[in-house]
Amino acid sequence: MRIWTVANQKGGVAKTTTTVALGGIAAQQGQRVLLVDLDPHGSMTSYFGHNPDDLSDSVYTLFRIPSSLCIETLAQLLVPTEFDQLTLLPASTLLATLERKVVGQGGLGLVITKALTLLRDDFDLVIIDSPPILGVLLINALAACDRLIIPVQTEFLALKGLERMLHTLRMLETSQKRIMEYVIVPCMYDRRTQASHDTLREIRHRYGGNTWPSKIPIDTQFRNASKRGLPPHLHTGDGRGVQAYASLLKWLQKSEENTEQVRFWEAG
Ligand code: ADP
Ligand code: MG
Repeated sequence: MRIWTVANQKGGVAKTTTTVALGGIAAQQGQRVLLVDLDPHGSMTSYFGHNPDDLSDSVYTLFRIPSSLCIETLAQLLVPTEFDQLTLLPASTLLATLERKVVGQGGLGLVITKALTLLRDDFDLVIIDSPPILGVLLINALAACDRLIIPVQTEFLALKGLERMLHTLRMLETSQKRIMEYVIVPCMYDRRTQASHDTLREIRHRYGGNTWPSKIPIDTQFRNASKRGLPPHLHTGDGRGVQAYASLLKWLQKSEENTEQVRFWEAG
């Protein structure tokens, strides 16, 4: 099982869209995919037709009873979607109260890591959508993943959010004593605007080695897809935005194969 977290300490940069698009396409390829909503806004949960305001069972339950976490409890929280191979672990807006409740309570940084360990034979790919605010939820999302995907809107203000995110990542690397792989994904690229060109160039200049070499274009179909609660690939068929996400998925899969090979050679 591979675990990817989609995060950026800025809202509106396409985190949820990226999570649903990658998950939808991977599921269509036949992978067993779990999407985890760790954002108290519950946008991804709403996306699949559930109301995060009145869900009694959600990912929040895991934080309420972290010490008695078991596979049976966890299984009850998983919600099938109407799409084959795509399962959701939904958020409830109660998640917003978590930060206040857990002040001074240690050991809550690995709740999601532990929960996903219980599911490791049930899914091929887990993708976690995370909140833009640094707190126990984002820490959980980062601690649990093998790889971090950072969507960045191609506009100048977005670079600040990216810097903040990378700063958090470095802090976590120090405390966890491990290197975390991350990929920056330029999103909502509008080829008609100078700001998009300039920001893309700046991102590549500063973070070239960690940036996906292509970009996700502006595609109004994404807004319609989220309104209708359809993973973009099902709503739009083969629009240019979906094609871009399909090539991102392929690139991510390919680069993981290469990493595996390097590990194999190093071990051998
Ligand atoms: P976040 O989760 O980071 O807050 P969202 O994924 O909810 O961001 O995206 C914010 C808004 O931008 C949504 O209305 C979404 O439909 C829209 N959006 C995302 N990606 C694109 C894109 N490539 N083209 C056009 N609109 C997009
Ligand atoms: Mg979101």
